[in-house]
Amino acid sequence: MTPRRPVPRAARKPPLLLAAFTRNYRLFGILLTGVVGVLVLAAQNSSESQPAVSPPPTRFSMEQPVAAATATPPLTMPTAAPEATTPTTSTTPSAEAIASAAAAQPAEESPITPTPSGSKHYIALIIDDIGYSGPLGERAIALPGAVTYAVLPHTPFGTELAELAHSHSKEVMLHAPMSNLAHQPLGPGALTDALNQEDFIATLKGNIDAVPHLQGINNHMGSELTGMQTQMQWVMEVLKERGLYFVDSFTTAQSVAGDAARQQAIPTTTRNVFLDNETTAEDIDREFQRLLQTAREKGSAVGIGHPYEETLDYLEKALPALAQENIELISVSAMIRLQQGEAAP
Ligand SMILES: [Zn+2]
Repeated sequence: MTPRRPVPRAARKPPLLLAAFTRNYRLFGILLTGVVGVLVLAAQNSSESQPAVSPPPTRFSMEQPVAAATATPPLTMPTAAPEATTPTTSTTPSAEAIASAAAAQPAEESPITPTPSGSKHYIALIIDDIGYSGPLGERAIALPGAVTYAVLPHTPFGTELAELAHSHSKEVMLHAPMSNLAHQPLGPGALTDALNQEDFIATLKGNIDAVPHLQGINNHMGSELTGMQTQMQWVMEVLKERGLYFVDSFTTAQSVAGDAARQQAIPTTTRNVFLDNETTAEDIDREFQRLLQTAREKGSAVGIGHPYEETLDYLEKALPALAQENIELISVSAMIRLQQGEAAP
C-alpha cells in the first residue's frame, strides 16, 4: 500500500453560467462529441485529397495482454490494450515500428475519498512517442495548456521537438524504451535485460542526454522490464543522480517501477488512463471522460495520449473546455508535487 494523497481543496464555486455547464457536462459532452465527429469526418475527407503531407500513423501489431488487470473499479472501463504505436512521416517511412501493450489498470494508489463538490480537480496529460513525426509533434506541442511531452530518444525530430516544447514553456520528459513481453521493436536507446549494469546505465544516460530540458522520464512499452526489480533499481539510481522524476506508464500489472522509485525517494506518479488505445472519436471521448471522472473522485489523475491525428483533433476541442468542468490541467512535475502534498499548483 502507498501513502494516501492529500485531496486538494480549492473550494471555489464556478460562476453561474459555468456551473450550469458543469451540471450539464454530460449533455455538453454529447454535443461536443457530435461536433468533433463531424470535424473528424471532414478532416479525413480533406486529408484523403491531400496525401503525402502527414499520413495517419501506421498501426502495428499489438502486444498481447501480459497479465490480469488489477480489480477494476466500478467506474473504470476495461482497457487492456496496446500502449502505443509510433507515427511515421513520409520522410521517414522506415522508422522503426514501436508498439506495446497496456495490459493493466494502474494500481489503486490514490485516495478514494471523493472531494467536496465545488472543489477543484487536477489532471496531467502526457503526449508520448514524440520524435518520429515533425508535423504531428508540432501540432501536439500547440495544444493549449500545460500538456507534458514525452520524447523518444535518438529519433529524427526528438531533439528539435523537445526544444520547441520548452520554448513554448511546456514540460519535457524522456520516453524511455523498455523491453516488452511481446518483443515488439523498441527503436534506439532500448533498455532490456540483455544489457549488463554498465551498458544499461550508459544507455539510459545516453537517452537522458539526448532529450534537452527533460524533467523526468516515463516508460515506452516496458511490460517486461518494469516488472524487473534489479533493472528498475538501476533506473532509479540514475534518476536520483540526475534529479529526475519517474512516471510509471503502467503497461503491466506486475510493474515494480513505482515501488522502486519510492524506495529511493524518487518523485513519482502512475498513469491512470490511456486516451487512445482505440482511436475513434467516441473511444477517445470515453477515455477522456474517464480521466476527468477519476480526477473528480480522487482529486487528481494522469492521462497519456499519443500524437495521432484523431487524438489531436479531440484534444484541440476538449482542452479549452476543461475550465467549464472546474478541472485544471497541470504539468507532470506539478502533479507529483500536488500528489505528494508539497504544494498546490
Ligand atoms: Zn510509447
